[in-house]
Amino acid sequence: MKIAIYKFGSCSGCTIEMLNLSEDLLKMVYNKEVEVVFSTLLGADEKCENYDISLIEGAIVSEGDVATIKDIRRRSKILIAMGSCAVLGGVPGLRRFTNEDEVKSVYVEDYSEHKYFSEAMPVSRFVKVDYYVRGCPMNRYELLSLLEKILQNVWFKQEERRFPFIREKTLDIEGTALSLDGEKCITCGRCVKVCQEIVSAIDYINRSIETTVSTPFKVKLDESSCISCGQCTLYCPVGALKERSSVSEVQRLLKSGTRLTAYVEPEVLAALGEELNFDKRISGIAVAALKKLGFEKVILWRPQVTVRMQDNLTIIPSSEAEAIYIQRFHPELSKYMIEPPKIDSSSVVWITSCLARKLSRGLILTTRELIRLLSTLDFGILTEKSFDEVKLNELNFKTNKAVGIQEVERILMSVNDGRLREGAIELYICNRGCLYGGGQPYLRPEITMKREGLLAQILSSTEEEKRGSLGIMEALF
Ligand code: SF4
Ligand code: SF4
Ligand code: SF4
Repeated sequence: MKIAIYKFGSCSGCTIEMLNLSEDLLKMVYNKEVEVVFSTLLGADEKCENYDISLIEGAIVSEGDVATIKDIRRRSKILIAMGSCAVLGGVPGLRRFTNEDEVKSVYVEDYSEHKYFSEAMPVSRFVKVDYYVRGCPMNRYELLSLLEKILQNVWFKQEERRFPFIREKTLDIEGTALSLDGEKCITCGRCVKVCQEIVSAIDYINRSIETTVSTPFKVKLDESSCISCGQCTLYCPVGALKERSSVSEVQRLLKSGTRLTAYVEPEVLAALGEELNFDKRISGIAVAALKKLGFEKVILWRPQVTVRMQDNLTIIPSSEAEAIYIQRFHPELSKYMIEPPKIDSSSVVWITSCLARKLSRGLILTTRELIRLLSTLDFGILTEKSFDEVKLNELNFKTNKAVGIQEVERILMSVNDGRLREGAIELYICNRGCLYGGGQPYLRPEITMKREGLLAQILSSTEEEKRGSLGIMEALF
């Protein structure tokens, strides 16, 4: 299969991201499944008349580009737009905000020769695009999976809605824990699909060119049926749906010399290790990194709740998400429910895999925000450090555990119809539990597989393994 890679107005980031697939790509090349016949970055120029696949990076920015992309389209069986610039106009689209005369004064002859447009435009404005691989840079694994499907001759439709237009009006939906930035939203519908499995808080509204994603009557997320689980944020390809960040606030406090203690959940460390490609050493490295940033103490902990043992039946919500779910969808069971875990201290930063905890008081950072906070550090020069304290206390009572919305619903129904009358019930609304909570890094199948193994290693190195349970609650009497 002959592949050509063409670059228009862009930074080459997507092509480089593609080359990061080195082993998988080489395997394809070695198996003679693909042959890269044209790429300026790779120095390939085999002068082929026709291509099986053309990968297009970059926005169309000049009349010359239009002629070239039309020629590529004519010669390509399949044309794939990769990355935000090719798909949407991306970063070069910022030229809309530049002063034309200033640009001309810098590029002089080059400017008139290339007949630049005043805007950068998506490839689909000029030619038919067969597939889109979104993101800035594009998601290389999505590209790999697409190439594999094409090689297997599996003709498929991408499970997304696509509209080749620019909406005139956009709609922002605010919320305490997360919000939807309508300017960024590309109406792909992934969030709608994810939320349909949970509480259907968001859906499409309007028609045709005005179609967009919203809560009913455009109310704030907190006023809709949204429980702030954050699962939708894990799938949004452009970061339109994301948590309300507390990174700047934490940075400000650290800079001002405020003495802060970081309470870190083991699930955070597992995901961090996965992202940074560390094994169980991630615990020591994370402690060192947090101290380097200025945290006075770092504590490994699991959230704790107070259980009233005089009650026959106790429902333990693992976060505000489960608590809201019960209040909204099973209010008759609220009387059995205790408060979700909390930390009431202005000197604590709770670092968690759970986005819903942002509804509670205090400073909460999700794993994704932690990664942002640590992004300036050079991990190579850090020496591992130990936690100042480990608070992974043993469960001292037996619980029924429900993980994922279906199990949660099943167990609540059995309380409702009287089949379950006593004991403690732990609820985790996210599919596969907090390890895959809404504050974790975006899901990438090939690395996410490491997460479970890393969690087990982290726990075993802190004696947690002995109790043979991954339950997160401790009863306090
Ligand atoms: S946070 Fe959860 S409940 Fe709210 S819109 Fe997203 S998926 Fe739905
Ligand atoms: S997943 Fe993101 S881009 Fe797609 S419709 Fe939802 S908010 Fe918009
Ligand atoms: S399952 Fe865990 S991550 Fe998901 S909402 Fe509940 S506490 Fe938060």
